[in-house]
Order: sequence, then structure tokens, then C-alpha cells
Amino acid sequence: MMLDKADLAQEARTLDAGDRISSICAHYEQPKGWIFFDANSVGPAPKTARKAASDLMDDWVNLRRRGWAERDWVDMPAILGDRIAPMIGAGPGEVVVCDNTTVNLYKATGHALAVNKDRATIVTQAENFPTDLHVLQGFERFCDRPVEIRHVDTEEEAIAAMDDTVVLGSFSHVGYKSGIRWDMEKINAAAHEKGALVLWDVSHSAGAVPIDARGSNADYIVGCGYKYLSTGPGGPAYIYVRPDLAERAWPPMCGWMGHADIYAFSGNYEPHTGIKRFISGTPMVGANAIARCAADIYEKYEPGDIWARHRSLSEFFVRALETMCGKLGVEVTSPANYDRRGGHVSFRAPGAGRVVEALIDKKVVASFRKPDSIRFGISPTALTHQDIHEAVRRLHDILETEIWRDPKYENVSV
Ligand SMILES: *Cc1c(COP(=O)(O)O)cnc(C)c1O
Repeated sequence: MMLDKADLAQEARTLDAGDRISSICAHYEQPKGWIFFDANSVGPAPKTARKAASDLMDDWVNLRRRGWAERDWVDMPAILGDRIAPMIGAGPGEVVVCDNTTVNLYKATGHALAVNKDRATIVTQAENFPTDLHVLQGFERFCDRPVEIRHVDTEEEAIAAMDDTVVLGSFSHVGYKSGIRWDMEKINAAAHEKGALVLWDVSHSAGAVPIDARGSNADYIVGCGYKYLSTGPGGPAYIYVRPDLAERAWPPMCGWMGHADIYAFSGNYEPHTGIKRFISGTPMVGANAIARCAADIYEKYEPGDIWARHRSLSEFFVRALETMCGKLGVEVTSPANYDRRGGHVSFRAPGAGRVVEALIDKKVVASFRKPDSIRFGISPTALTHQDIHEAVRRLHDILETEIWRDPKYENVSV
């Protein structure tokens, strides 16, 4: 059904009025007039983060080393892990928040190679995110045996590439460019049938769309926190390892904070039980203090409600985009079926990179990916349907007036 513009404005108001968890937006600080669609890059800021940063300064100045005893700095990887676990369908004690995604990809990949020493083929998406591919290329160079990397483009190819030489499938749950979401359960089952393990990078899906670590029988899940999960710029990442798998090998990065007894200060490494062996060194106390503000918000809401909100906002965005900008050359390139999409919606538009610059002048922040893709990361926690309608209205004006052709929009930022 095609709606006209007036209907869309009314629909946005109706959807917001019927939104059961619209209160969630009030937890985030947002500069007036601006509408942010970069949750796929840096998620919205919890209002409590300012005080958390300032409290940390007080602790630093006043407590110094006593902070380790008087605050829960050491326990934060596990505390934060438990809070975000429901957002990836994991249970308590199954996730730790630590390091960045790259380091966690390394830990999971090395662990899989240690669990099954008879195999060394790794299947991955040709268009996987660069850092995911680089980690595999590092193992290709430094593993104790020759590693073969098999590149695939589709789920069908990934399933067909699984054979009894494959140790690991390393996949992005959602393609950072295409926005295409893979079926974790289906891929996991196909890999397991051949005795292979699967590592999922959920950076572009966690906090936006449903993820079921347990139900899908995932082996490893890693992702970054600073996107939809709002752990702040440079915020910590996380890692989940299937509980019965975690203890089958040492992590490839053995550190004192993953030791069975941190305070024994033993010279001999002995891995902690369960997921805690995947902690490396000193937790990022400052980043964790900020991340905790986001994690506290997740405790107040059901993941299912957040995912439903993301779905409603995203579907409304696509509808508004096609209705208001379809005639101006906009073409949605993300899958039409919501269940095949991740957190963001990608579309092509004339002058894409320049349009994104012109949008900033109109206080709408989205992102551009070469050659002609505009990405709108839909935050399920901070946006309303009326925000989306207003942003699409501003986009429409830019496309209709062709103001993006102005030379001042020539320099396209990332
Ligand atoms: C953003 C992103 C990362 C980020 O990796 P870092 O090591 O945290 O910088 C990794 N993988 C994917 C798929 C991403 O989208």
C-alpha cells in the first residue's frame, strides 16, 4: 500500500502513541534538532554517562590503587557480560565484555584451531568486514599448520563449503555493506554436521535484531559494544563461547586476568573455568564505567520489546523512504524482508556521498560507503517514528532541490 506524505506524518504519530516502550528514549542525551542514524557506528549516549565519567575521575584522584578493592573494576567484564547477555540470547556467566572486536575474533579463532588440531580450513565471507578477514590472514601466516581460507558470498555457498577439513566458519551475522542478515541456526547446523565450529561477528546486529546464542547453538559470538549497544566511543567489545566448548582448549591469548586465580600471582598459566579464561589483561576501567550506563538501561527492558521497536522503526523508515524519495532516484538495496536485514538500512541515491554531507547541514547524521551506498543505522533505543519521518522529509528536500551538487559538499567524510 502506498501512502501519501500526509498519511505518513499521521502514521508516525500513531505509531509513537502506541509504542509500549517509548520511555526508553528518555534515557539518552540528544542535542536538540539533530537526528542521528549512526547507531551502526556510534550508538546514542546514555544520560547517566556524564556522571559516570566524572565519578571515575573522583575515584582516580581519591582512591588510586584502593579503587581495585573498593570498586568493582576487576569484575566489570563479567558484570557487563551478564547484563548484555540477553541481547544475544546468552545466559549469565556466558559472556564477558573486554578488549575490542578484533582481539576477540583472534581469541575465538585461535581457540577453534586449538580445539580441533586435525583441521585448518576456515570459511568466511569474501565481503566480510576487513578486520575479520585480517585476523584470518594473520592465522594464515602464523598458525602452527597451513591454514586455507575459503571465501564465499552466500549462505548456500557457505553451507556447500563445509566439509571435513573445515575447522571454523567465521561469518558476520549482518554484512556491513549489504545489510544482509544470515540465518545463524541454519549455518550452525550445517557446520556442526561436518564437525566444524562457527564464529559469528554480531557487530551490526546486536542490540537491534534478535540473536539467540543458545537457541541457534552458536559456538562463538563476538561483537563491538559501541554501535547499537551504546557503550560509547571506543567502548569495549564482548565474547560468548558455548559453555561446553570454552574449556576444551586454552585461549590463544593467555593473560593474568584470565587465570584461574588472579591474586595467586602464579608464574604458571592455568586457565579460569568457563568464559573468564577469555579475559586477557586489566579491564578498561574508564570505558567500562561508560559502558555500564548502557548496560543498566538494558536491564530495564525486555530484549523482545527492543527488537520489536527496531522492526517497527525500520519498516516505517523503508516505507517513508520509498514513498517520499522513490521518485527522486532512491533505491533501497537492503533486503526487502525484515528478517533478512540487520540494524541498518542501505540505499542508493544520486550523489550519495554528497547527500550524506548535505544531510549533516540539515542536522541528520547518516553514513556513506563507497561507491554509492547510504546507510541509516536505526537505533531502537533513541529514535521515534516521528524522528524518522522528519529525517526522510529533510532527505527529500536535499534530493528535490539537488542542493547536494553544491561544491561545499564535495569533501565526503567517513
Ligand atoms: C565495527 C565492526 C568491527 C570493529 O572491530 P574493532 O576491533 O572493535 O574495531 C568488527 N567487525 C565488524 C563486522 C564491525 O562492523
